[in-house]
Amino acid sequence: MLSWAKKHVLEHKGFATKNRVICMDCAGTFPTTLVKRKRATCSHCKAKLTIEESRKTTLEQHIYVAMAEIYGEFQVIRNFEIRSYHNKYRQYSKEPVRYYVSEICQHWILPNGKMEIYAQLHTSNMLCDSWSGEMAIRDKSPGWYGNKYDFYVNKYHPDSVFQSQYKKMGIDKDLENISFLEVIKKVPLRPQYETLLKAKQYDLLGYFIDKGNVHQYWQSVKICMRNKYKITDASIWCDYIDLLRYLNKDTHNAHYVCPKNLKKQHDIYVAKKRREQQKREDERNRKQALENEKLFKELKADFFGICFGDDKIMIKVLESVQEHLEEGDKLHHCVFTNQYFLKKKSLILSARINNEPVETIEVNIEKFKIEQSRGLQNKNSDYHDRIIELVNKNMSVIRKRKTAKKKLLTA
Ligand SMILES: [Zn+2]
Repeated sequence: MLSWAKKHVLEHKGFATKNRVICMDCAGTFPTTLVKRKRATCSHCKAKLTIEESRKTTLEQHIYVAMAEIYGEFQVIRNFEIRSYHNKYRQYSKEPVRYYVSEICQHWILPNGKMEIYAQLHTSNMLCDSWSGEMAIRDKSPGWYGNKYDFYVNKYHPDSVFQSQYKKMGIDKDLENISFLEVIKKVPLRPQYETLLKAKQYDLLGYFIDKGNVHQYWQSVKICMRNKYKITDASIWCDYIDLLRYLNKDTHNAHYVCPKNLKKQHDIYVAKKRREQQKREDERNRKQALENEKLFKELKADFFGICFGDDKIMIKVLESVQEHLEEGDKLHHCVFTNQYFLKKKSLILSARINNEPVETIEVNIEKFKIEQSRGLQNKNSDYHDRIIELVNKNMSVIRKRKTAKKKLLTA
């Protein structure tokens, strides 16, 4: 299992800095000029490497692989855990990588679906995922997060053999990134699952089994399968289809649903969606502002034009929502954000010196009294008392406008 997994399942990585690449398989180094499209062949051990830009000098890998066998009437799935520790500083020792392999779990399944689990003890929680102890018959009841002896396997050994009933379903040695137990339990539930299994779209199958939303994407999935487009990252692909829908793109068109570079295309559409959302929000705000302006006029137009003062201070009614916004911005208070312009009982006046706001006054136009008068950052200005006095002295002007309207309405 290990020699096969080393070659076909474990990753072969090279970490590149500016001038050189370290091969994490043999700890040898070679110049970055040998790297083409993030790939290179190590000049020492000839491993075909995927190159990452990184200053890292160690690497750990943890994978599960399995071998399917037939024993009597049982289908047996033998699961192995493989760990590898790569360290560039071990280059002078014989082996720069340490490997650990251990058979940790066997599933014994009868044709009628009955099964037993024969495994080491699996401890699986937020902090730890480990196998220990002797192989023994283990609990097969589903726990809170599913049975902990049912887990994803990165790859099945090519010598795997499956009983004919499973072969008919579409299961073969290519099965990967999905659990056999889950497949035999869930695939018979929906014809789409069987189609996905036969098309070897394992990542998509696992994703849809998990989310139960295959119907939402099925039309687009069919187009992918017709075009022999393999989806290797189902969650990004589904997210991408959602983006296409949001942006009214044709999700039945191979040009859109089978992108050459999914990750890149996904990111482009995420940015597009953000711009679209911003546009919609701006439009909403603009409509709301117009709406507010209309409402404000209906409520307060009778008081427009009111203006009084003395030799220094001029006090006037604010006559538009925009004026409330500017007043709030200049004095750093909440006359705009708290939408005083839409309050039926309130009339907002601005006290100004040389046309610069000094305080903002709220008058209750039912009781004809001052509710508050506030200057910069809600504090009183030096002219506070003088402003209060001026407003009180001229309250009759405000009252007159209101009674004039009443008379007009009753007449
Ligand atoms: Zn090498």
